[in-house]
Amino acid sequence: MYICINCGAECKELFRRYCPSVLKILRCEKCGLLADKYIEYDPVIVFVDLILIEKPAYRHLLYNSNFKSYWKLVIILWLAESFRAWFSCEISKTELSASQTDLIYNNALQDYCNFYSVLLHTAFAFAAFICTVILVTELKWFIIGEKPYKYSVRDLSCALIVGGCGKLLGFLGIVWRHIASGPYYLLIQGYTVLCLFTAYSVVCKSGKGGSLIGLIAGFLLYSYICTSIPKLHLNIPNITLT
Ligand SMILES: [Zn+2]
Repeated sequence: MYICINCGAECKELFRRYCPSVLKILRCEKCGLLADKYIEYDPVIVFVDLILIEKPAYRHLLYNSNFKSYWKLVIILWLAESFRAWFSCEISKTELSASQTDLIYNNALQDYCNFYSVLLHTAFAFAAFICTVILVTELKWFIIGEKPYKYSVRDLSCALIVGGCGKLLGFLGIVWRHIASGPYYLLIQGYTVLCLFTAYSVVCKSGKGGSLIGLIAGFLLYSYICTSIPKLHLNIPNITLT
């Protein structure tokens, strides 16, 4: 079963093929618009609309397209975010060793800057984010009892992966040797949050308030893991020495 990219209503078919070269896109019975105009479009246009955070493009990708390589996106996202965190850590380490001689702090930072530690840390943060959002959403459906017919945990996981790809902008900065930090990284985070909101509202058919309830716990836990574990790591040598 497909869905209309304009209103999200279910459609049995999106187009009819009269001969190999003639294809007619069907209209949605609910809203009367073309059920999925992207069928005729070049994938680049779909990609541009995804970057522009257009809900119809998200609906097309998640429900009507043949895209199945979400696991590849997860790996790219994981490696890119880990590399960005590691690169940022390396810069801090260089600045620190040039500016001060606090050996304890410096050694702790070197331990944390180990690429494998950063990989594990990022994987843990991603898994915690996705699991929390799924749990809170399931809890929300349990309390409210208005679960959309087409909702599934798999669709929500795919939507979170697609929405999270906004973070790849941080990776582009590394290519041009300009690591996103401070206000630049905040901009990327803000853009990623908007992408996640859109992807979540497409799958859960929720408004701004409903999406905020579903995602906020995941955001808080993700931020907590990203900020607390490096601090914990840096505090360990102080604890053992005192
Ligand atoms: Zn429609």
